[in-house]
Amino acid sequence: MISKPKGTYDVLPDEVKSWTKLESTIRKLCQIYNYKEIRTPIFESGKVFHRDVNDTSDMVTKETYDFKDRSDRDMTLRPEGTAGVVRAFIENKLYVSAPVSKLFYIGPMFRYERPQKGRTRQFSQFGVEALGSNSPYMDAEVISLGTSLIKALGIRGVKVKINTIGDKETRDRYRQALVEYFNQYKDELCSDCLNRLEKNPLRILDCKIDRDKEFFKNAPKIKDYLTPASVSHFEAVIEALKSMKIDYEIEDNLVRGLDYYSHTVFELEADIPEFGAQNVLGGGGRYDTLVKDMDGPDTPGVGMGFGFDRLLLACSLAGKNLNSKDYLHVYFIALGEEARKAVISQMNVCRIGGLFCDMDYLGRGLKSQFKSADANNAMFTCILGDDELKNFKINIKNNETEEQETISLYDVYPYVLNKLNSKSVCAGCKEKEVK
Ligand code: AMP
Repeated sequence: MISKPKGTYDVLPDEVKSWTKLESTIRKLCQIYNYKEIRTPIFESGKVFHRDVNDTSDMVTKETYDFKDRSDRDMTLRPEGTAGVVRAFIENKLYVSAPVSKLFYIGPMFRYERPQKGRTRQFSQFGVEALGSNSPYMDAEVISLGTSLIKALGIRGVKVKINTIGDKETRDRYRQALVEYFNQYKDELCSDCLNRLEKNPLRILDCKIDRDKEFFKNAPKIKDYLTPASVSHFEAVIEALKSMKIDYEIEDNLVRGLDYYSHTVFELEADIPEFGAQNVLGGGGRYDTLVKDMDGPDTPGVGMGFGFDRLLLACSLAGKNLNSKDYLHVYFIALGEEARKAVISQMNVCRIGGLFCDMDYLGRGLKSQFKSADANNAMFTCILGDDELKNFKINIKNNETEEQETISLYDVYPYVLNKLNSKSVCAGCKEKEVK
């Protein structure tokens, strides 16, 4: 038997509904906030992600799926959404048609990580990217979209953790202070942090191995190195969050895993014990140099990404079931070959009219077919035997009231439609109405 690759999973029919429900909640929210969907390839030229030889993020240095295509080109399965969206923004010159592009994406990402609960090698992300404005209110808007999503999904106990890593001048001065400080503790740093000390000392603050060590507590804080412009950007973001009544906590050591951030960085953290270490539902930040670094026009940006799996897990732990039950309007039972032929044509009429229908294709007996009607959660069951067929009639049963009637074989569609519209079908029929 061939198994799925390690760190991947199948989303089976019973679970897919919660995924599509989450997608539709996201799409609705993005419409409310005026973000437009963009779909980019799941693989890109390797250069899209491996841009900077000094990049120290685990995701880029250790976790990408890199491969050569048959023409010997370097390709990478996308590990995140932002770089591909920025590539598309530049290549399609989206900056020409609008001064600000507010985009969102939903789709699979790939990272060669150690699989564990809440961390897989293929996972789906929803993300937004707002390109073209350096306004702090745009940062606040993105965070607000994130908190609105959490609210819409009924997930409680989520905290917004926020920090600023300032502008380039801030980071240059801070970097120097960190190098001076951590140089004293070189012997105690893990091998990754020794490398980060050379290439990007800010990322040391993000280290899962070193961050709990004693000497970390006294490491320089970025807030002491912020330029006045960085301070006023951050203060404006915080003011905007306050005005929208969004609770937040400032976290001095938050720098986020990617090297391209500037100014605001944030995470939405779930206070859910079952999540363990993987408690970040989503996060993001401002990236004012990324578009330029990727050879586009000087364009500021801010974005955020959420993992689908963790959102769905958080929903189910919050007792919110996104998985509504499937149903049929009509299940057709046919007894005999002639009846089957007649049913196929009548079922087709109903399907053209938009009713959800199915029938038995195995030539089984009456009892088994009734069982299938039940298993498919059918609102009506139509039963056609030889006697009815002779008179061009069909029996139709309302499965909730158990009422049964004999009607013209050709009237199934108008009969069901009429019942659905007259609300006399069942208590739950509102959701089942044909639109
Ligand atoms: P990141 O792009 O690393 O900032 O991640 C954003 C969000 O994507 C995280 O908060 C998670 O919800 C989700 N995520 C990241 N990596 C994984 C993974 N390997 N498996 C499942 N979800 C992930």
